[in-house]
Amino acid sequence: MKLRLIGYWEGPHAEGWPTAQNFVDPAQDRGDVRVICGYLEDGAVARKYRGLSKCRFCGEFVGSLERTDGVYIWPDGLAHYVREHSVRLPDEFLAHARRMGETLECAEIETEWWRRQEGLGPDAA
Ligand SMILES: [Zn+2]
Repeated sequence: MKLRLIGYWEGPHAEGWPTAQNFVDPAQDRGDVRVICGYLEDGAVARKYRGLSKCRFCGEFVGSLERTDGVYIWPDGLAHYVREHSVRLPDEFLAHARRMGETLECAEIETEWWRRQEGLGPDAA
């Protein structure tokens, strides 16, 4: 399985990543920002790494987890950049996040598998 990494930024000890300042778009719709931040914060925790990451704008510590939606993987602090510093993520990712949200909302729910479960039975405990 290969996850696509997003949200790592160039810094003092991190070379070869995009520059966060180049992604700032103060004209972003606040509703879109709220939706995308919720999406980022709701990602499943994929990894815990050692050491805290510092925001490239304000120096605040912004977490030490990586989250994923099964397609992308991003650092926990990415929502901070979007919310606090108006970082606009690439359209390809924004469209993906929107699509994932809609897909889950409209998903058909299959209930029969769970209805058939019987556990260990009443005598097991
Ligand atoms: Zn910051």
